[in-house]
Amino acid sequence: MTAAPDRTAGVLPLRPELVGLEPYGAPQLDVPVLLNVNENPYAPSEAVVADVAAAVADATRTLNRYPDRDFLALREDLAAYLRTESGVDLDPAQLWAANGSNEVMLHLLQAFGGPGRTALSFAPTYSMYPEYARDTSTAWVAGRRAEDFSLDPDAARAAVAEHAPSVVLLASPNNPTGTALPAATVVAVLDAAAQVPGGCVVVVDEAYGEFRRAGTPSALELLPDHPHLAVSRTMSKAFGLAGARVGYLAAAPALVDALRVVRLPYHLSAVTQAVARAALAHAPELMAQVGSLRDERDALVLWLRGRGFDVADSDANFVLFGRFDDRRAVWQGLLDRGVLVRVVGPDGWLRVSVGTPAETAAFKDALVEVTGR
Ligand code: PMP
Repeated sequence: MTAAPDRTAGVLPLRPELVGLEPYGAPQLDVPVLLNVNENPYAPSEAVVADVAAAVADATRTLNRYPDRDFLALREDLAAYLRTESGVDLDPAQLWAANGSNEVMLHLLQAFGGPGRTALSFAPTYSMYPEYARDTSTAWVAGRRAEDFSLDPDAARAAVAEHAPSVVLLASPNNPTGTALPAATVVAVLDAAAQVPGGCVVVVDEAYGEFRRAGTPSALELLPDHPHLAVSRTMSKAFGLAGARVGYLAAAPALVDALRVVRLPYHLSAVTQAVARAALAHAPELMAQVGSLRDERDALVLWLRGRGFDVADSDANFVLFGRFDDRRAVWQGLLDRGVLVRVVGPDGWLRVSVGTPAETAAFKDALVEVTGR
């Protein structure tokens, strides 16, 4: 799409901070191998398709009515899933859901950010964070991660003390680097946040949490001792449900209650709730697939390193690799061969999502051709 000529200057009272901005989003190109937005490469199985379709049919019979505003059945199912996935016991009152974790985090900023307040994160990180801040008129501050994309607990503590944010956003595993945070780092930030006058909510964004390597804990385990912690998850990645738009979080009931105030009424459609619940019933088989994606990821990291590329350690379903003098030329070369990856992160790096074995093979062949390595 090309932008229409601007005939609105002086007509539409666009907020000054939005003038000239483009909507967020990676190019959606029609090529054979799509490895650019960290989707799950596996379409839902026929068993999932059948159950989702039946659940949607049931929901359709009630579509003359507004949906359950508090989606209690879905919250119970999410609590049960997290109990199995992370061994953490949660009450449904501790769960919240929305149309993708993007909307969950917007709710967080709507409730805890706002004019005169600051949101803090550590770059390079997910590029939507400053947009949530902008859209809620929250000031945005980005500290830095270390050269290896880890986060130094002392530096993080100092940044929280210096900026006194009301919200800290920590992606773990981080996008676009794949880096997971050790529990000690999250605890350091939580401790510093507890000292911020007026309070500070720490959001650990675990959109890629299910892909973490063995031994890496989930921040869910920290919930019992930290009423100012929110752990965000999504069904877009591990569940292969990006098109359904279901994200959720776990936090103390009082924190969830604050989100209930800012959400639009009936924000989660009856169809969305039905789809999510039907997919959650298939969690065991979907998690087995996550296991094979993790193995593919680890093999891809080894292969790239074997070819002499720099590769960030990854606990996610993607890999940041480089470094290239002209990363755009490498990106274009891959695209010319039918493989779409993402130009994102610090200069010199590219990010590739973990695909099916066939897609990964196509990526490797193309990369060898383009770089000659
Ligand atoms: N957090 C991170 C770190 C992400 O990379 C993404 C998606 N790319 C999201 C949140 C949002 O995902 P969704 O809205 O599909 O849940």
